[in-house]
Amino acid sequence: MRLLIVEDEPNLRENLTKGLTQAGYLIDACGTGDEADAMLLTETYDLIVLDINLPGMDGSTLLEKIRSQDQTVSIIMLTARDALGDRIRGLDTGANDYLRKPFDFPELQARIRSLLRRRTIQEDVILSAAGLQMDTRTRLVTANGKPLPLTKKEGQILEYLLLHKGRPVSQEEILAHAWDDTVNAFTNTVRVHMSALRKKIRAATGKNRITNCIGEGYRIDE
Ligand code: CA
Repeated sequence: MRLLIVEDEPNLRENLTKGLTQAGYLIDACGTGDEADAMLLTETYDLIVLDINLPGMDGSTLLEKIRSQDQTVSIIMLTARDALGDRIRGLDTGANDYLRKPFDFPELQARIRSLLRRRTIQEDVILSAAGLQMDTRTRLVTANGKPLPLTKKEGQILEYLLLHKGRPVSQEEILAHAWDDTVNAFTNTVRVHMSALRKKIRAATGKNRITNCIGEGYRIDE
């Protein structure tokens, strides 16, 4: 899952980037609304953490701009403690949730998990299909109940497939959601990691669990 953090306080931005990277997300971060606006032209994100008080284009304006073009990306806004007007305006213009500063990091994480689950109508923190289970909190994966050690990248690919189980997911789509720098990545890179992931799953379960749909991508079934 790819997240964009828009926050002008350098310390908070760095802490969020660090914490959420450790939590297994791919993070891009910037400090102004204008930078975020430019990044959104070329990159695709699953969720945006958006500070409302930003220099230049403020968060409310950016929020309206994003929503005029994209109804699906989840947006959590960060507001000052007493900024009730900002929160109302933000929720009215399409923010999915908000947090008042200062907030506790575990709460932000829980809100992010909740929004990403709602996006895919996945009610559980455990994703599962075909004998595979992934705990999205701990990032631990099991195959038929036994631990299946994966690299970070393999875990991110598997998570995306599990979230979209039953339909083929193209290499381009995987690249857009499981890589943080699509500029220097190629679909061949996806193929290499996918091949390693499929090999591990086959070794652990005795079966091919990820179907290669020619011309369409990869699919994992229930
Ligand atoms: Ca700010």
